[in-house]
Amino acid sequence: MTLLELQKTIIYGPVNSRRLGKSLGINLMPTSYKMCSFNCVYCQYGWTKTHTLEVSGYLPALPTVDEVKKTLEDWLKKGQKVDYITFSGNGEPSIHPEFDKIVDEVKKLRDKFQPQAKVAILSNSSSLALPWVKKALEMLDVRIMKLDCGTSEAFEKINQPATKIKYQDMIENLKDIKNIIIQSVFVRGDISNTSTDEVEEWIEKIRYISPDKVQIYSLDRPSAFKSLLKVDRYVLSKIAELAQELSGITVEVF
Ligand code: SF4
Repeated sequence: MTLLELQKTIIYGPVNSRRLGKSLGINLMPTSYKMCSFNCVYCQYGWTKTHTLEVSGYLPALPTVDEVKKTLEDWLKKGQKVDYITFSGNGEPSIHPEFDKIVDEVKKLRDKFQPQAKVAILSNSSSLALPWVKKALEMLDVRIMKLDCGTSEAFEKINQPATKIKYQDMIENLKDIKNIIIQSVFVRGDISNTSTDEVEEWIEKIRYISPDKVQIYSLDRPSAFKSLLKVDRYVLSKIAELAQELSGITVEVF
């Protein structure tokens, strides 16, 4: 297997997702390179080329509200049904400065063409302090937010955030948003978040944030950092059991 190819278009799929069923992706980042506020060692798209939370200097590379609207409308008009319309793609979708306007347009199109579909985001949780993000997230039906680490030290190693992103601020911001699903990736090898201490700290943060539920998984594909290893399902199920027992929150293994 190889790294996943970047999404070359604004709308992609639908992909058959283990968690979301038939999911139509919306990519708000550039279509020729990866732009993200994180540079996760396990990223299936490889290393981040433009590593930033602040994208105003890159606007020509990002789709406009009208481009997203027109492309999605053309796709939905064809009538193929999906379970989800999901913001994801070549980086963190919510750092697009018109993300709130785009969410509004996508929801209108969903209501018109596919009212059965839910509108969701796979977010890395780094952007919650940006002025437009919380409001936009509240408009979505499903918010799946990343939290892989229980300490800022592990966070710096595994997610490699852009400057200005602070672990503790991210935890406080996650606690502030209602009805979220936390999604966590566990890895081992030269870089790991599966030591007993790290898992205990992660569970403590889960308890504090109090999401609706938690979904955990490990690598599916090769990662940016080549020597990372997959955590086997037995270990994931032990982490899930412990987290569920200590937090009282449902933890699912994928
Ligand atoms: S947040 Fe997602 S897209 Fe960005 S580096 Fe991490 S895994 Fe890749």
